[in-house]
Amino acid sequence: MTDDVQTDIQAVANIPLITTLLDVASQTTGMRFVAIARVTDTQWVTCAVKDEINFGLKPGDELELNTMICNEVRQCKKLVVIDNADIDTNYKSHPAPAMYGFKSYISTPIFKPTGEFFGTLSAIDPEPANLNNSRVIGLFTLFANLIAGHFNAFERQNNSDNELIKEQEITRLQQIYNKELATANEKLAATQQRQAELLQQLTGANAKLQQAIETGNMGTWSIDPVTQKVTLSDFIRKLIGFPLDEEITVEQTMSVIDPAYRVELAGVLNDALINHKDSDIEYPITNLVTGERKWVRSTGKLLFDSTGNVSEYSGILLDITIRKRNEDKQAMLAAIIESSEDAIVSKTLEGIITSWNNSAERMFGYKEQEVIGKHISIIIPDDRLPEETVIINKVSNNERVEHFETMRRTKWGTEIPLSLTVSPIRNEQGKVIGASKIARDISRQKIAEERLQNYAEHMEILNSIGQTISADLDTQSILQKVTDATTQLTGAAFGAFFHNKVNEKGESYMLYTLSGVPRSAFERFPMPRNTNVFGPTFRGEGIVRSDDITKDIRYGKNAPYYGMPEGHLPVVSYLAVPVTAKNGEVIGGLFFGHPEPAKFKQEHEQLIAGIGSQASVALENARLYQEITTLNAKKDEFIGLASHELKTPVTSISGYLQIIERGLPDGDRSKSFINKTLKQVNKLTTLISDLLDVSKIQTGKLPLSYAEFDLVAVLADVSEMLQQNSVRHKIELNYNKKPIIIKADQQRVEQVVINLVTNAIKYSPGADKVIINAGVSDKKVKVSVRDFGIGIAEDQHSRIFSRFYRVENLASHMSGLGIGLYISYEIIERHHGKMWVDSELGVGSTFTFELPII
Ligand code: ADP
Repeated sequence: MTDDVQTDIQAVANIPLITTLLDVASQTTGMRFVAIARVTDTQWVTCAVKDEINFGLKPGDELELNTMICNEVRQCKKLVVIDNADIDTNYKSHPAPAMYGFKSYISTPIFKPTGEFFGTLSAIDPEPANLNNSRVIGLFTLFANLIAGHFNAFERQNNSDNELIKEQEITRLQQIYNKELATANEKLAATQQRQAELLQQLTGANAKLQQAIETGNMGTWSIDPVTQKVTLSDFIRKLIGFPLDEEITVEQTMSVIDPAYRVELAGVLNDALINHKDSDIEYPITNLVTGERKWVRSTGKLLFDSTGNVSEYSGILLDITIRKRNEDKQAMLAAIIESSEDAIVSKTLEGIITSWNNSAERMFGYKEQEVIGKHISIIIPDDRLPEETVIINKVSNNERVEHFETMRRTKWGTEIPLSLTVSPIRNEQGKVIGASKIARDISRQKIAEERLQNYAEHMEILNSIGQTISADLDTQSILQKVTDATTQLTGAAFGAFFHNKVNEKGESYMLYTLSGVPRSAFERFPMPRNTNVFGPTFRGEGIVRSDDITKDIRYGKNAPYYGMPEGHLPVVSYLAVPVTAKNGEVIGGLFFGHPEPAKFKQEHEQLIAGIGSQASVALENARLYQEITTLNAKKDEFIGLASHELKTPVTSISGYLQIIERGLPDGDRSKSFINKTLKQVNKLTTLISDLLDVSKIQTGKLPLSYAEFDLVAVLADVSEMLQQNSVRHKIELNYNKKPIIIKADQQRVEQVVINLVTNAIKYSPGADKVIINAGVSDKKVKVSVRDFGIGIAEDQHSRIFSRFYRVENLASHMSGLGIGLYISYEIIERHHGKMWVDSELGVGSTFTFELPII
């Protein structure tokens, strides 16, 4: 049975009052078996049944269709009525009545609302019946229609039920769908939201990337693997000096790259496009326009399509010129550090060594790997450890420690003098994180400094000795000073200076001075002779220095002592320096001895030689001075003698001339000659008396005869007298009209005033006056003579009072001996007064003297 038939059976069963309908059909027709059957072209199936004859059919039972009259009803779609099968003409031979045991039969077709044949409403009875009449047929047709109607209703109902179910299903599905849709929507919304966020992030990231690219000195590039088309961002184009809007080829790109890197770069390109390797390479480029060279770093990435082929080769190009420069700088710095003569060491603030250059290895003996990570105290002597704390404290405060001289210890324990410069090492934030130390080995410098110090000291000694001995003009004193100084300088136990001298008779003899030992220690011994040891010095053959003279081959070769005489001071270290005069003549020798060996060094030789030459100059000066003093004395003696011898005849001449003059009658022509001669003789007398005064002063025999007198009167007399002889100059005397009584040698004071006024007139040939001022103050009388003449240069002021001194280049008419001021000065001095000059060259001079008023 098919599902459709089953549904049909159910549909019939669902017809309300179907049993009643079958009952009514049975009762109104008298048929005891009534059935509704679903008849298809293959089946006859019972749908509902009223069976009072125990036919035995139930709903769902099937009967053989071919055996059924209903088949004909189906085929003809017409009602079949058989009142009595035995006699019915149409069906008496039909197998059905016999087969199913009925005599009467009625079957009417039932159609679905669609007009489709459904089945039959049939009734049978074993007995004949009166069916073929309009009432029964009408009833059956009615029943069939009713069923059809119900069936229609059922169908509709069924349809509507189905639809309802369908609707419900649809509603349910819709609900599920809606729910899922809502969920999907939510998800979609969330996804969209996320997408929007991602997009926003992406946009932000992109903007940042763009910004990073722009500000980070970088640009983008790409190469199409198929067409080899190169795309470069503006940054790169500007970097290489290529127009922004022109196409560029791989070759053109290559042309800006440093030739030394092109092969490598081609290899990288090849590796990328053929072996699919990402790239990262650094190389220099040259700007096509400016020719500027820059370093770039190019990183490239490969992008693949769905088939696994390279779709794009692109990347970023970074301008790394500054980094490279820094790297170069760092490399240079590293090279400098490595090649530096100074030890360069860096350490943390805790003192842990972090770097150690070659010179540090050389200086301290530790290899880099031995000290890195160790504490700096490894090279600090124990007694200098506190220094480190001070240094680190300074450095921590961002201060530098400069040229700090100290000692450091090497691997071998020796200590070396160093000059340290320690600077703070700061991180990028400027925080001090360590210290870098430059250590300079100053051993040599120290030696040099010591030498320099020695040299300076020696120079100082030489200088001071030079000054002392050059100021000394006494030979013996010079010899002693030099001996003392040199013995002390050399650290000798004793020293001696032997000096050859020639006496007035031309005999040579030897002076000597000793230092370090009393003279008595030497007095027993003969003077050094031309022995093998002393000879070279006295012959001026050079310095002899011996660490142990007793081992010298020259030693002990001479009779009578063959070495040192008994009782001689023990000499082991020996130094002998010849002292020679400018002309090369040996004037003596300096000898030093010490009982211990190797006491004298080379520097001593130079020093003593230096002092020796100064000594020779000083001795020469002393000799010359001696000679000059002797000559001077002789000269003074001669002047004294000559003026004394001249004075008497000149006085006689003057006396005789005066007698002759007085004896001549007035108007005698000879008289004027006599007077002129007398004037010249007076001049001569003055000159001689001046020269005599000089001699007297020299010998200390200038007697003064003190008496009280009025200085003003003297000044007035002198002015008047000199005014008579002077036509051009007016002599002006200023005083406060009161006499000034002093106690002095009137003649000598007069002599002074005459001398000053005469000079004032003599040395002011272009002027017309001389002013004499006299005044008293503080128990002193002050007299000054002022002129307006040639004046005296400042540097001459002190000299003009010296004996025989005259200012150089004086005009010929200003004759003189240069003794007037000398005598005047001495006279005033001896009166316990003072004399000085104020003068300006070309302006005039004022000579002043002061005398005490007693
Ligand atoms: P002299 O015989 O040369 O004048 P003095 O002893 O009197 O000797 O003077 C010494 C020197 O001083 C003179 O030679 C002259 O050069 C200088 N002198 C002296 N008085 C004057 C003066 N009033 N003006 C310029 N120079 C003077």
